[in-house]
Amino acid sequence: MSSVRPHRPFSVLALLLVLAGCARNPVTGDREFVMMSEAQEIAMGRESDVEIRRQMGLYEDDTLQQYVEEIGLEMAARSHRPELPWSFAIVDSPAVNAFAVPGGFIYLTRGIMAYLGDEADLAGVIGHEIGHVTARHTVQAYTRASGAQLGLLVGSIFSPVARAAGGLAESGLGVLFLRYGRDAELQADRLGAEYAANAGWDPTGVQDMLSTLSRISEGSDRRGVPGWLATHPEAGDRVERVGPTLSELSTQLDLAALRVNRQGYLDRLDGMVYGDNPDQGVVRGRDFLHPELRFALRFPEGWEVLNTETQVVAQRPGEDVYVLLQLVTDPNTRDLEALAVDSMRSGGYRQDSGGETTVNGLDAFIGTFTAARDNDVQPRARVAYIDYQRSVYVLGGLADVRAYDEVEPAFNETIRSFRSLSAAEAEEIRPNRIRFYTVADGDTWQSIAQDAGQGIVASNTLAIMNGFPVNEQPRAGDRVKVVVEG
Ligand SMILES: [Zn+2]
Repeated sequence: MSSVRPHRPFSVLALLLVLAGCARNPVTGDREFVMMSEAQEIAMGRESDVEIRRQMGLYEDDTLQQYVEEIGLEMAARSHRPELPWSFAIVDSPAVNAFAVPGGFIYLTRGIMAYLGDEADLAGVIGHEIGHVTARHTVQAYTRASGAQLGLLVGSIFSPVARAAGGLAESGLGVLFLRYGRDAELQADRLGAEYAANAGWDPTGVQDMLSTLSRISEGSDRRGVPGWLATHPEAGDRVERVGPTLSELSTQLDLAALRVNRQGYLDRLDGMVYGDNPDQGVVRGRDFLHPELRFALRFPEGWEVLNTETQVVAQRPGEDVYVLLQLVTDPNTRDLEALAVDSMRSGGYRQDSGGETTVNGLDAFIGTFTAARDNDVQPRARVAYIDYQRSVYVLGGLADVRAYDEVEPAFNETIRSFRSLSAAEAEEIRPNRIRFYTVADGDTWQSIAQDAGQGIVASNTLAIMNGFPVNEQPRAGDRVKVVVEG
C-alpha cells in the first residue's frame, strides 16, 4: 500500500455520459458510435495520467524510463494515430501488467519488465497497448464503464464474501483494469506485431511475451501478479492466434534481420527493484512491514499476502477467509467507535459487539459486525480501528458466519500483532532486486533459486521470468535473471 496517495474516483466519467457522437475508427475506417471526440479523448487521458502518476508513482530510474519512452515513441510514430500526445512510463508496481488510457498514455509496471526477455518482447507489450489506443478500445471501455466496473480490480481478486465488505474493499484504481473483450485483445495483438515490425523490432516478441505471461497462471507463486491475468484472459490461445499476422509480416519483411537486442534489454534491467518497494511496504514471510509509515503486523502462518496500492490482503489458501488492512488518511473524526460503526454501516454491516481498547499501546476500537445474508453468503467481520500517527488503520478479518468462530482466534492474533516499527528496524528493510547469474553445469532452476537466488522466489517463477516453461531446465552458459536482496 502507498503512503501518500489518497484515492478518489474519476470524476470525468460522469461528464462523459452526457456527451455523445459518431466518429470514424482510425484502424478500420468504419464509422462507429462513440461517446467522445478526439479532443475529449485526449483531455480525459491527460486527467487520468495525472491521477495514475500520483496514485501509483513512477519507478525511479530515469535511464529505464527514457528507454521505454523512446521505444514507445518510435512505434507510435508508425501507428494509425501518430498525432496523439503519446507518453510511455513505468509505474512503480510489482504487479505484472501493462495498460493504456485514452489519448495515448501507456504504462508498464516494473513487474512486467522483470518477466520480459528482450527488446522485442518489450516492443510486443508496448505495441499491444498502442493497439488498444489506436483502435479506440480504451475509449469504448471508458464509455461503457459504470461504477460497478470501476471496482473491477477488487472484483477480480475477491470472492463474494470480500466484495460484500463494501467500504473495506473499495479501490479507486479499478478504472485502470478495464477489460476489452476477446476480439479487442486479438486485434491489439495483431496491431502490436504490425507496429513492432514497422518500427524495426522482431514482431515474434508479441508471441514470446504472450507465452511468458500465459505461464504465470500455470506454475509460479501468484503473490503480486494478479494484474495481467485479471484483464488478459486466455493468453495461451492468443499465442497461436497471432501466428497468421506474423506469417503475413514475414512475406513483406526479413524478420530475422529485425532487432531483438537481448543483451541491451537485460543490461538495463540489472538492479531493478523486484516485488514490493519498501516505501510501499514489504511482505517478508508472514510479516508485513512498512518502513515509511513505521508499522508492522503478522499474518497467520501459511496465508497468501497481497500488497496492493490501496490495501493489504491476506487469504487463507483456497478459502473465502481474509484479513484486510486499509488506511484512512485524515479521518474526519478521531472518535474510533463512531468511525467504525459509520463506515461498517455504509458497507452493509451492523454491529454485534465492540469497545475501546489498546493494541500494543495504540488507541483502538475493536468490534464484531455482521452483514445481511446475500444468496448463500453472510459475511461476519472482526475489525479494529487503530489510531496511529496521523492516520487510522483499519484491520479486519472476514469470513462467512459458518466459518467465523473457528477462525476468530487467528483474526484476533493478527489484530493484536499491529505495532509501531522502530527507526532501526525500518533502516534494515531493503528491496529485492534483479541481478544476473551465468548457469553452470548441473544447475537446475531449483538450485539456482536456492543458491544464487537466496530462496527469495520459487524455482517455477524463476523459470518463467527467464522465458522457460517450468518443466524445462536452463542450459550451461545461459545468462539468467535472479532475484537477490539489497
Ligand atoms: Zn490488452
